[in-house]
Amino acid sequence: MSATAAAAIVERTFLDELFDRGLLIETGVDGLYGRSGLFEEIGEGFQALVTRHGLADNAEIVRFPPGMSRAVFERSGYMKSFPQLAGTVHCFCGDPASHAGLLQTIKQKGDWTADQKASEIVLTPAACYPLYPAAARRGPLPAEGRLFDLLSYCFRHEPSRDPARQQMFRMREFVRMGTPDQVTSFRAAWLERGQALIGELELPCRLDVANDPFFGRAGKMLAINQRDQRLKFELLIPIESEANPTACLSFNYHQDHFGHTFGLTTASGETAHTACVGFGHERVILALLKHHGTEVKAWPMSVRKALWG
Ligand code: AMP
Ligand code: ZN
Repeated sequence: MSATAAAAIVERTFLDELFDRGLLIETGVDGLYGRSGLFEEIGEGFQALVTRHGLADNAEIVRFPPGMSRAVFERSGYMKSFPQLAGTVHCFCGDPASHAGLLQTIKQKGDWTADQKASEIVLTPAACYPLYPAAARRGPLPAEGRLFDLLSYCFRHEPSRDPARQQMFRMREFVRMGTPDQVTSFRAAWLERGQALIGELELPCRLDVANDPFFGRAGKMLAINQRDQRLKFELLIPIESEANPTACLSFNYHQDHFGHTFGLTTASGETAHTACVGFGHERVILALLKHHGTEVKAWPMSVRKALWG
């Protein structure tokens, strides 16, 4: 046996440990997992903590399902920036004769998916995408702008054995809409609050300027521009690797991109600016399990208090 093969046998990854402990449940697809009751309990504690930190702002709670309108998705420009991550919902729309053909193809292990037709639904890539057109439909924003509280399962096609990079995961978001001043002061406040919140969980973290994974050659320029303008910050916590800590919270300033795209205006008729702060639900749970151990009863009392009171 080679040295690397021997190492592979003894080296249990964090993902293996999560499976062994039953915290995550394998499905046969990398990045698609079930969650145990305990995993969910930690998540509920985390969500309650986020709610507490944002309570004074009185955000309007909205919940969308994990699928969104394909028409809205097309309008958003997502396919221009992140075609590699998108997931669409396709369905069988044939008659009984083509159904027989479909079953035959499956039986012969052929590609039965080729005849599936795109439905009007795509999988939500970030919790805030369905919100912008819904908010615009209400008319111009009030003078104080608006603030929303969202939570949704999201899909991104990025299969990985890193448990912190899943294909279906939850994102909690606060989304602010208003004037540039309203929106940038919201983001500045959350840059502080986010660090205080992670501090309460006694997790090591570091704030950094970041960029989204824009596709292709043109994408490189977009990423550089996003960094230069400091439009995206991430709060990083080591999970899978010390050298490459994982983005657990994101703070995004979209300028007037969504306002312009969806016709969202301020009380005075200007194009609205927007910003969102996103919390990676699974990522924070995994960070807790990584740093405090998989034996939750042995976690510091202060951390358990922060989560469950
Ligand atoms: P983003 O829109 O990329 O800024 O994502 C918002 C938040 O969602 C990030 O800060 C992460 O915590 C979380 N997130 C993004 N991608 C994934 C993924 N593949 N698996 C789990 N969490 C993710
Ligand atoms: Zn967002």
